[in-house]
Amino acid sequence: MKGSPFIMSKKINSARRVSKNILAFKCPLCESEMRVVEHKSLICTNNHTFDFAKQGYLNLMTQQSNSHYSKELFEARHKIINGSELYDEMHKSISNVIKNSMDTSINPCLIVDLGCGEGSHLQRIIDGCEIEAITGVGLDIAKEGIVAAAKRYENPIWLVGDLAKSPLADHSFYVILNILSPSNYKEFKRMLVQDGLVIKVVPGPNYLKEIREALFESTEKKDYKNDDTISLFKEHFKVIHNIKLNYTKILTKEELYNLVGMTPLAWSGDQDRINAFRNQASAEITVDLEILVGINK
Ligand SMILES: [Zn+2]
Repeated sequence: MKGSPFIMSKKINSARRVSKNILAFKCPLCESEMRVVEHKSLICTNNHTFDFAKQGYLNLMTQQSNSHYSKELFEARHKIINGSELYDEMHKSISNVIKNSMDTSINPCLIVDLGCGEGSHLQRIIDGCEIEAITGVGLDIAKEGIVAAAKRYENPIWLVGDLAKSPLADHSFYVILNILSPSNYKEFKRMLVQDGLVIKVVPGPNYLKEIREALFESTEKKDYKNDDTISLFKEHFKVIHNIKLNYTKILTKEELYNLVGMTPLAWSGDQDRINAFRNQASAEITVDLEILVGINK
């Protein structure tokens, strides 16, 4: 067999985890049931076949995505999430919500992060829960994000996939995480078990305001308005918690560099302004987030 033993075992371990949770999968092409064959492929009853990558993830896209999120963006995001403490309070709050509402007799208990990027939020939230029965599933349309996640974090199941052509089965997930990422509430409702939780994180008006103020002259791109997002969420789910986080952290020069690198907002900014922002020795950065916790109505 080709490849190092470490890489091979990653693929086999991943195939085992998927096999153990096979009922949570459906074919993204024909919606039929799936099975894992020879620790190598996920195959549906109509023989649509998806192979495990050597890093352990599965690519379940039915057509190529146009995601222009690069490897560098996910690397910057990884460094910020794990190195800067910017999101630590968000992770803690979400872990607490899960811990306090989880029926610990359920095993395995599947938690899916829809729009997981490079996977650090999901991994850190699961770590914070300290519940062995939890199995994490991370789905993102951006392959570079999933490759980065699978390289670093071995326990969750990592999937390249599209919410609109979802590879995930009905009523399979106890918790859906949706962190600073687009939603598809119809799909969320379909995938959630009865009484399952949807935990959605939306930016508040002051989220990373320093970067917006530094990069844009006009006011039009400065403010996030989240009223529409929140009312749409409330139309679909009964909100049982609404946690507002508002704090600042001092970031170092290196961290500011990574913050710009992980922010799609910066792509349309003026290069001189971006450089001026990145060259500060340090700066105070605002985190303003709203965590909506809902159950199916
Ligand atoms: Zn199929």
